[in-house]
Amino acid sequence: MPIGEFELIEKYFSRLGTRRADVVLGVGDDAAILAMPAGKQLVAATDTLVERIHFPAGSSPRSIGHRALAVNLSDLAAMGAQPAWALLALTLPAPDPDWLREFSAGFDALAQLNGVSLVGGDTTSGPLTITVALLGFCDSAYLARSGAAPGDHLFVSGTVGDAAAGLAILESRLSGGSPESRTLLQQRFLFPEARVDLGGRLIGIASAAIDVSDGLTADAEKLARASGCGARIDVSELPLSAALLDCAGPDLAREFAVAGGDDYELCFAVPEQRLSLLADRVPARRWPYRRIGVLNESGQFEYHAGATSYTPARKGFDHFLR
Ligand code: ADP
Ligand code: MG
Repeated sequence: MPIGEFELIEKYFSRLGTRRADVVLGVGDDAAILAMPAGKQLVAATDTLVERIHFPAGSSPRSIGHRALAVNLSDLAAMGAQPAWALLALTLPAPDPDWLREFSAGFDALAQLNGVSLVGGDTTSGPLTITVALLGFCDSAYLARSGAAPGDHLFVSGTVGDAAAGLAILESRLSGGSPESRTLLQQRFLFPEARVDLGGRLIGIASAAIDVSDGLTADAEKLARASGCGARIDVSELPLSAALLDCAGPDLAREFAVAGGDDYELCFAVPEQRLSLLADRVPARRWPYRRIGVLNESGQFEYHAGATSYTPARKGFDHFLR
């Protein structure tokens, strides 16, 4: 018996995520009604995943469900905002029950973890495409890309390049490394962790932030440009995981770190006078991050590896410049 649109919504999407008291009306009516906490500002983001563009055809549906929410959580993390409510627009070639169960489990697990409630959406047939809109809130303070100034130090959280290398492994383009390292990198692509906690803690400390979705240099340059700055970045300081070094070796690992996307780490700027506040309130041993460069007035982007100059072969991903 083929499953219809309404049964599908009821079975797989009506009760996803945490039950929040601020959801006056959720899935089931023409629109959701949500109660804003007093004194907060609404924060909204949306991101789409298209099969073959954002993930390989035939990807694990659990991973697709996870990533569809994770990429949006990462956008809110980069604003220092708290996520609350999600809308899910799903275009499916066919209502495959196994696929739907796994997809909704992947979405649900991450929604629960982040206190997000799924409050509505849309379901249509067509080529596999998933759009999530994520709503949340912030106080009067938030992190924008444009708040940094010349002299601010540039940082990146976690490790970079892992997800791009993991995708290369999934697509049989990267063959080295131990089975453990290979699995770890693939997991970083399939199940990225958005840095929501870190983003919130950087409020009042960082002057600007962006999440690393297109590639570290591409995204660091976006932050710098939005702030009217240039930057000097030491690519030998980019944090590389042991797994990436194991699978790719030092030179290729650096290329993945410089230009690889999908890590969903945070790149952020901190003024000199707030460096000690950063170290005190957000110690790197608890929320790992590393200083990778400094913003300047030049408007230019200069890369070096320690004492030698460095020219990135690629900087990141652009849908229309591939
Ligand atoms: P309408 O025709 O009024 O847009 P729909 O039939 O599209 O209503 O949706 C019915 C209800 O189910 C609405 O509350 C909508 O928000 C919700 N909904 C539809 N698809 C999804 C989905 N994939 N995930 C969550 N909620 C959904
Ligand atoms: Mg609809």
